[in-house]
Amino acid sequence: MLEKKRLNTAEYDANFSDIHPPFETRDAALVEANRCLFCYDAPCTKSCPTGINVPKFIKQITTDNLKGSAHTILSSNIMGAGCSKVCPVEKLCEGACVFNLMEEAPIPIAKLQRYSTEKALEQNWQLFQRKPSNGKRVAVIGAGPAGLSCAHSLAREGVSVTIYEKEEKGGGLMTYGIAAYKVTPQFCEDEVNYILSIGGIKVKYGQALGKQIQLSDLQQQYDAVYLAFGVGLARSLSIPGEELSGVTDAIGFIYDIRTKGFSAVSVGDKVVVIGMGMTAIDAATQAKRLGAKEVTMVYRRTETEMPCTKAELDIAKLDGCEIIWLAAPKTLIGKDGQLTAIECERMELGAPDSSGRRSPVVTGETFVLETDMVIKAAGQMPYTDLVSKTSLQHKNGCVTTDANGVTNLTGVFAGGDCVNGGKEVVDAVQAGKDGAKAILSYLNL
Ligand code: SF4
Repeated sequence: MLEKKRLNTAEYDANFSDIHPPFETRDAALVEANRCLFCYDAPCTKSCPTGINVPKFIKQITTDNLKGSAHTILSSNIMGAGCSKVCPVEKLCEGACVFNLMEEAPIPIAKLQRYSTEKALEQNWQLFQRKPSNGKRVAVIGAGPAGLSCAHSLAREGVSVTIYEKEEKGGGLMTYGIAAYKVTPQFCEDEVNYILSIGGIKVKYGQALGKQIQLSDLQQQYDAVYLAFGVGLARSLSIPGEELSGVTDAIGFIYDIRTKGFSAVSVGDKVVVIGMGMTAIDAATQAKRLGAKEVTMVYRRTETEMPCTKAELDIAKLDGCEIIWLAAPKTLIGKDGQLTAIECERMELGAPDSSGRRSPVVTGETFVLETDMVIKAAGQMPYTDLVSKTSLQHKNGCVTTDANGVTNLTGVFAGGDCVNGGKEVVDAVQAGKDGAKAILSYLNL
């Protein structure tokens, strides 16, 4: 049965405390920084989508030059503090660290990145100076990672930016779509404020494209428009019973945790999560941490094909979540409108599909799990309706652009999840930088 307030305040605090705590002392940070080999042509830098000069910022830590270190990080990635907490580093910088080849622990790059960038946020170090205003005005749709990154890059060059954001806070996915034990709402707010502190960026909250604002109006009012409205609609399972009470989706579940507070979010006794991406993991682990007795994750392929990283899977396992591989939901079963069970089909792997992964094939065998809460986490869909109402070219709702973020409409650029359908925060930050570069070139700046 779905219940709110399953735990007391101390239990919530313990369950949602920082999963990757910072270095406790300066010495601890220096010991790790001094392990770095400061590689030439460093593979860690090459594997960072924003190209952070990792050996340089680590070297700066070894000499206690934290301002310099933060500048090195933030000049490549203005959300470097947040990315140090949410990046899947085991498949990016830390996964590429040469220590892996020697079968030794890689340099804890994310923890070191956090060490200097958190200081920059805490002390509000102004590491970038805005050029004098050049009179150009750009509208950015969305205050998520792509929009903020684009806005900051433009503001540095003297452009006046207005961000239109549909929510009441900035940060996008960071603020509304990631597990609370990775980034707190307060941290997200601090990071957004830090980015905006450069000046020249105004944010108008509660402004949704297609509702309070229209693309055609913005095109008239501004010298250029950058679209960074992300993705957000949960993919439906398209099976009977989705209307039953107790069936929800991971996006809404995580959004509620982020906005209402832990004790105000209902969770079941026996929760089933469908999917094995990062959002599925965040939903499953948080359901457990909210007090669910059992959480079972159901995924139609195997561990080899799962979209989440091994580190994410380990978090779910450590939290006590059960995993059922090679199973797909078939029917949601209910009584008096209330979910009571889920029937799943056993799958096997067939030939590779367009993603290159072996596709799941129905075996004909089924099984039933008792459940009072099913959380759908089978991916997110682009805002097809919204995009279809504009003259933007798109592919199944994803805005079509060239490599620089240029759309088919003159003066309109786009980047991040609304173009690629959903990637990591760090990819969105880089997209925002690319978009700003294209806009500056378009504006002859
Ligand atoms: Fe340092 Fe590892 Fe990067 Fe080499 S690959 S520079 S050792 S963090």
